[in-house]
Amino acid sequence: MPTRSAAPVSVPMPRIPRQRRSPAEVAAAAPVEGPQRVLLAAPRGYCAGVDRAVIAVEKALEHYGAPVYVRKQIVHNVHVVSELEARGAIFVEETDEVPEGALVVFSAHGVSPAVVQSAEDRNLRTIDATCPLVTKVHREAVRFARAGSQILLIGHEGHEEVEGTYGEAPEHTTVVNNPAEARTVQVEDPDKLIWLSQTTLSVDETMEIVTILRERFPNLQDPPSDDICYATSNRQAAIKKIAPDADLVIVVGSANSSNSVRLVEVALEYGARAAYRVDFADEIDETWFEGVSTVGVTSGASVPEVLIGDVLRLLSEYGFGEAEEVVTAEEDILFSLPKELRAKLKEAGDDSRGLGGRVKQG
Ligand code: SF4
Repeated sequence: MPTRSAAPVSVPMPRIPRQRRSPAEVAAAAPVEGPQRVLLAAPRGYCAGVDRAVIAVEKALEHYGAPVYVRKQIVHNVHVVSELEARGAIFVEETDEVPEGALVVFSAHGVSPAVVQSAEDRNLRTIDATCPLVTKVHREAVRFARAGSQILLIGHEGHEEVEGTYGEAPEHTTVVNNPAEARTVQVEDPDKLIWLSQTTLSVDETMEIVTILRERFPNLQDPPSDDICYATSNRQAAIKKIAPDADLVIVVGSANSSNSVRLVEVALEYGARAAYRVDFADEIDETWFEGVSTVGVTSGASVPEVLIGDVLRLLSEYGFGEAEEVVTAEEDILFSLPKELRAKLKEAGDDSRGLGGRVKQG
């Protein structure tokens, strides 16, 4: 079997223990009157697409054995990636880092046809863990490009998901990053125009961009159904409910997780006095608690619940009471495993078919 030949794409941050200020010192610095409470957003954390992708790598390791190569981070979370690395997954940036004939998993964010072709050219065995809701956007891009429409793809240039969707129809697609670009983007035929979007954007900012585009191009067509996925919308709705009451919001999620970063922005926009994103509880600065009565806690769609547990334990050490869950939606979506893997599991008598939503909330 090939040995490790490529540098991992994500190395866990060194977590250096430091001397914390004690709960008594924090309380003395800015005393708080009344009880200190935690509002815990639900839904939060793992979505069905992330769960499916992580299970796909776990099952590939179980049934094919290590190493299993993964193009890009399977999901944008440092903890998840390092756990899978410890079990034998090797994360690479591109398929040309994967030895000929080896097994590679495509991440939840999706890949362009050029990446699929390059894997074929190298005779790689592939498992496509692209979230079905990302695949849906790819299909829309192909369909509207074939119909001769220009696609305005609202999303963050350089994000893996946007690269994948753009790659479906590069000649027909223009990426619109923000409201400023919506004001200046040039189109060929304003009557053959549709907007699509990345699945993990801010719902409000996307609507702002669409409004600007529609003012300029009144015949702009909407996507057949929402591209921003249920998980992104639900997590934003939950933090919107909590933010007005929160002196502080802590979002657990990695810096490259689009929906985690959006949660910080949404919390601030909806009235949180402060909001921070952390990968791990030990990145929380206890001075953030000074004068704070209510802390809101949530996590991005690629974050396992164990990391939330660490944050709640730390909050409890600093005098915050038991977390009160604020439920704004229930999620029970399940996605079945990638078809390449289902066939292998069937052969092996493993009946893990319906997957996703391992962590149910609400
Ligand atoms: S955030 Fe949405 S699009 Fe992305 S993996 Fe989860 S369900 Fe799929």
